[in-house]
Amino acid sequence: MNATWKTSPEQKRKQRRRRFLLLIIFVVLGLTGSFLFNSSPEAKFVDVHRSPQPEKAANTSITKTSLKNATQKTVSDQIYQRVIRPGDNLSTIFDSVEIGQNVMVQILSADESLLALDILQPGNRLTFTCDEKTHQLLKMELSFHPAHQVVYYRVDENSFDYEENILSGTWASQLIDAEISGSFYGSAMLAGLSEQEVGNISYLFKNKINFSRDMRSGDRFQVVRSLQLVDGKLTGQSQIEGVRIFSRNHSYTAFLFEDGNYYDEHGESLARAFQRYPYKGRFRISSAFNPARRHPVSGRISPHKGVDFVMPIGTPIYATGDGEVVRVKNHPFAGKYLEIKHDGRYVTRYLHLSRITVKRGQKIKRGERIALSGNTGRSTGPHLHYELHIKGRAVNPITAKIPMAKSIPKNSFKTFQQQVAELRSLMDRPDNTFIGA
Ligand SMILES: [Zn+2]
Repeated sequence: MNATWKTSPEQKRKQRRRRFLLLIIFVVLGLTGSFLFNSSPEAKFVDVHRSPQPEKAANTSITKTSLKNATQKTVSDQIYQRVIRPGDNLSTIFDSVEIGQNVMVQILSADESLLALDILQPGNRLTFTCDEKTHQLLKMELSFHPAHQVVYYRVDENSFDYEENILSGTWASQLIDAEISGSFYGSAMLAGLSEQEVGNISYLFKNKINFSRDMRSGDRFQVVRSLQLVDGKLTGQSQIEGVRIFSRNHSYTAFLFEDGNYYDEHGESLARAFQRYPYKGRFRISSAFNPARRHPVSGRISPHKGVDFVMPIGTPIYATGDGEVVRVKNHPFAGKYLEIKHDGRYVTRYLHLSRITVKRGQKIKRGERIALSGNTGRSTGPHLHYELHIKGRAVNPITAKIPMAKSIPKNSFKTFQQQVAELRSLMDRPDNTFIGA
C-alpha cells in the first residue's frame, strides 16, 4: 500500500469517523421523516430579547428589585431573531427589525465573496444584535443549520466583515433498504431519502440506468448514507456512502472512495470528467485565487474565492461539468451570476456575466454554453470570476483535483476494496430490515 495514504489527513479523518461510526437502522419511517425533514415546525417570526442576567453567578440571593435595578443600569445589546418563512426576502426582514436598507447593502457587500444571503430558505434563522441606545446594527448571524453559520459583524461606520463557521460534527451511518413499488423516485422518497439524495443517486447512475424505463415494481435498492450530528442533534446534512440497485437480472453499485469520487464495485469511476476552464481560447488571469487576500484599502482579509479572467464582454462561457443550474441571480456586487451543482460535492459559480442563457433547474452538459461574460455588479473591468467549490468550500480551480473519469489507481485498489467490503457487510446484515416496502 502506498505510504502517502496512511498519512493523508483525509484518510485520518475517515478512519476517525469510521471508528466512531454508529449504525442506526430506523425501522419506523416516520421517525426519519420527522427528524430530518421537518426540522423547523415553528417556522414563524419570533422576537427574542436577551433576558438580563445577574452580574455574577455567586449572587444567588439577588432579589427581584435588585435584579430590576441591575437591568436598568446595564446597557445591554438588543437582539432580534427571525426565522425565514416562505415569501420572505432580506429587504422585508430588515424592515421588520427597523434596520435601514443602506445597512443591508453594507452587509450584501460583505457577502459578495460568500453569497450566503442569496440562498435563504424557510427555516434558516437570522439573529440581529443592535446597540440598545442607537439601534445601530452591530452583528447579524445567519444560521443555515447547527453545523453552518455565518456571522456578519460591523468593522466601522460603513462596513461589515464576516466569519463563516462550519462544524464537521460527528457522522452516523444509516442503511435504507427498500423494494420499489411504482417509481424509483416515489419509493425512495417513501423510504426516507430526501429529494436531493434521490437526485444525487439518479445522477450517479445517469449513464447506466434509465430510472423510469428500467426499474420495475419488485426491484430493490440499498443506500448507506451518513448523517451529520452536532451535539447529538441531526443537522439535516447527509452524504451517500454506497448504493446497490438490484433490477431483475442486473445489479448496479456505487461506492464513495476517500478521494471524494464514486466508483462501481470494480473501481471504475462514476464521476463525469470536468474541464479546467469555462471558456475556449486563452485569457489572462488578473486576480488569482487567494483565500487570505488583503483588501488594498482597508487592509482587512478579503478573500478572493475564485479566479478572474480578463475577457471581452460577450465571450461565451461553458459549463465545466455536467450538472444542474441551481442559481440564476442578479446581485448588487457579484452582478449577474449563476451556479451549477455537479453532483453531491462539486459546485461552480460564474460571476459578472452580461447574459445568462440557461434557467434555474435546467440540466447542463459539460461544455454546454451557459452565458456570455460581462462586467456587471462591482467590477473594475470586463472579466469572468470563476469559482469551484468542493464539499461547500471554495478551492483554487486552476490547481484543484477534479474528477477525470477514470478508475481507482492500482496502489489504492486494496484500500478501496476494504471500504467496499465494510459497506457491503452493512448491506448484507442478516437482520436487514425493509423500510418502505
Ligand atoms: Zn473575482
